[in-house]
Amino acid sequence: MRPFRWYSITVPCPAGMFFSFLLLALPLFSQQSKFSFTRPDLKLLDDANELERQFERKGLVYQEPALTGYLQAVADGLQAGSPAPARVQYRVRVLRDPMINAFSLPSGSIYTDTGLLAQMENEAQLASVLGHEMAHVAGRHAYLQNREIRKLSVTVNLLSLTAFVPAGQILGAGLYIARSVSGPLATFAVFGYSRQCEDEADRNGLSLMTAASYDPHAMPSAFHLLDEKLDVEPARGIYRTHPSLKHRIEKTKAIADSKPAASQRTTAEGDYLAHVADAMCFNIEADLDSRRARLALARAKRLAEWKPDAPRYSVLLADAWRGLGADTAEPGPTELTAEGKAERRRFLSKMTAEEEQAALLAKPGGPEVKRANDATAERLYTAVIARQPSIAEAHRGLGMLYQIESRNDEAAREYRRYLDMAPAGALDRLRIERRLDAVAKPSAVGQL
Ligand SMILES: [Zn+2]
Repeated sequence: MRPFRWYSITVPCPAGMFFSFLLLALPLFSQQSKFSFTRPDLKLLDDANELERQFERKGLVYQEPALTGYLQAVADGLQAGSPAPARVQYRVRVLRDPMINAFSLPSGSIYTDTGLLAQMENEAQLASVLGHEMAHVAGRHAYLQNREIRKLSVTVNLLSLTAFVPAGQILGAGLYIARSVSGPLATFAVFGYSRQCEDEADRNGLSLMTAASYDPHAMPSAFHLLDEKLDVEPARGIYRTHPSLKHRIEKTKAIADSKPAASQRTTAEGDYLAHVADAMCFNIEADLDSRRARLALARAKRLAEWKPDAPRYSVLLADAWRGLGADTAEPGPTELTAEGKAERRRFLSKMTAEEEQAALLAKPGGPEVKRANDATAERLYTAVIARQPSIAEAHRGLGMLYQIESRNDEAAREYRRYLDMAPAGALDRLRIERRLDAVAKPSAVGQL
């Protein structure tokens, strides 16, 4: 993961800076009713369709019909029966990607990353994101911006995208594929559109929301969520790279304040979580794989508070505490300083996970933090097992916790229990068998 924020990416990447400047300077032509397709437009549409095929072929689309159906229903509600523009069909899909991002293609396909779904709190906030993206499609922003880029003979410099997301990780995988298919589409997905286009998408998105009886204040509150927490973790929240989040929060709040508050539907967090919980579970695991244990923890807490008796959420919560290692759950005061932030970036960009943990452990208080985190994880795992001994994942997590604490006999015992209980086709069976070999070797295996 690369920790650059929008304002920092412009420093190391002059091309990115130039491009962002260009986007701000572009005029807005969004007379969609008069829109007539040119050859470059049709090429962009072809590229968008190819991109969708690649997402599908490379297994990046999160397949959960109930969730996809729910998202589509929210989008359909926003469209409210009005006809889609020519060559547009609104379709919402989910990408298996813990980045906090959503983007649309000119064909009308809207992709939300599992990371964005995990960040939203309720349906109204989700609707604000979908409404914004639908407004980009209806405004033909991708086509118009693509024409401007061509007119100015600007080559989209993909170096800035390379700096943005790491190779070989699930984090940002969608953008890597997009980059290989279409520079302009990948760039729009990362950097958004011109200031005017973004303002228009916010305004029109808000109108779609209010027409569908959502509280329009959910849009600024969604923007706020995209900004929050990401300081805690130097995780890129791409969505907030759209012009200026602060500007957008102020502007959309002012518009929302001016709308009548009558007949707004209630959108409770629990109702939303019921739809997105499985995708959130996937995303928590992906966050942990991407060294974002704090985000994983914040999300697992939400699920565990929502359903305290669900063993799956308690196990994920324990996994997140274990994943923190010697890191604190919240940033300390020094971490919020410029030097502290720079250090976090260095950890992520220059160190392996093991090196990072060693550096954290070497800090004053590091060992105590790790002990406390591990103790919390152990307490959660054992509580789950006490209630339901057959939850295989709790044994796996406990085994990994014991292994890292060099409690090898206990680790071997838990790995064996996991292997006994896990389904025959469990994907990580081989991995756990190897771990068992590693911890069982030095001791008398038969007695464990
Ligand atoms: Zn946008």
